[in-house]
Amino acid sequence: MTAHADLVGDVFGAHRVLEPLGSLPQAAKRVDNDFARLYESELLIDVETLNVDAASFRQMEEATPGEGTAGVVRLVRETVASRGKQHNPVTGSGGMLLGRVARLGSARKGDTAKVGDRIATLVSLSLTPLRLDSVGAVRPASAQLDVRGQAVLFATGLYAVLPNDMPERLALAALDVAGAAPQVERICQPGDAVLVLGAGGKSGVICAVEARRKVGPTGVIIGVESYAPYADDLRALGVCDAVIGGDARDPLAVRTAVLAATGGREVDRAISCVNVEGAELSAILCTRDRGTIYFFSMTTSFTRAALGAEGVGKDVDMLVGNGYAQGHADYTLALLRREPAVRALFEKRYG
Ligand code: NAP
Repeated sequence: MTAHADLVGDVFGAHRVLEPLGSLPQAAKRVDNDFARLYESELLIDVETLNVDAASFRQMEEATPGEGTAGVVRLVRETVASRGKQHNPVTGSGGMLLGRVARLGSARKGDTAKVGDRIATLVSLSLTPLRLDSVGAVRPASAQLDVRGQAVLFATGLYAVLPNDMPERLALAALDVAGAAPQVERICQPGDAVLVLGAGGKSGVICAVEARRKVGPTGVIIGVESYAPYADDLRALGVCDAVIGGDARDPLAVRTAVLAATGGREVDRAISCVNVEGAELSAILCTRDRGTIYFFSMTTSFTRAALGAEGVGKDVDMLVGNGYAQGHADYTLALLRREPAVRALFEKRYG
């Protein structure tokens, strides 16, 4: 490894972009993952686990029928080899990673981590230069892969030092969806009726729990979840007024079931947390005029959402689920500490 004191690098990581030149790392087709040369604004990580984005993991499983987890490993290796980052070319999404700080460049300021600390990255793998040396165990339930390799964060790349009061895999899983809870807190109001699509999954459970806390006892929370065991888990948490075991890609059926559960009231807020394409219309059809839809799902299509809402004459505000909200990591870890039943469920699934 050679560190060039004269090479500081761009705060946004433009210095690592190989193709097309002039773009930023997330939009880039290919980034430089040769860490023999390091820049002084970079943080080098010895990578231990990749937490692949749920939509990306599912797409890779479906693209490699009959191959099991080997198919996902093959595609991850191919993607990293060709792009220098785990940027799924089909879904466009990434994930995040867990590893140990190997080096902090001399031009960095304000780091909370020291060399040797274990950290989770809070920026997408779709923009994080990554070299993979080997891949070990794969855990489909959490979309995590144990790996050996290295990655760098740029000066603007967020990360969290892992807490020492919970298992690392649990923290990693929760931090993957850290943007969700604080944004649900912002958009929900006391007394609201809230619909969560994909409500039994990782971000869905967090959104349902956070929405329940914010809307209070006069509010209504409805979850839609197609995977029966996860729907049962959600029912057991007791945060929803109704959990509908349905397909969020079937808007008319979802609207009928939701209105039946709310006594005919359209919801004030809908949150999409599915890992499949095609749930936009269910959220739109169930939301009242001037209500809010928060599309956290990476499968969301701007075209389907915009033209779909227009097509059914719904005047709704639609928000893109920014992965980042100020203080999101601490907020989400605090939610796990405050909600022992959620923590126990997540430990069972992901810990
Ligand atoms: P997850 O744990 O896999 O949860 C998704 C849930 O939706 C699963 O329980 C899934 O069931 C369920 N589901 C799948 N198809 C459905 C359908 N047709 N109808 C109803 N439910 C359905 O995923 P996650 O980690 O929470 O992520 C959820 C979404 O958020 C993904 O699209 C992911 O890419 C995105 N995400 C966004 C950000 C951001 O910053 N905005 C960050 C992280 C993740 P199965 O178990 O059967 O699949």
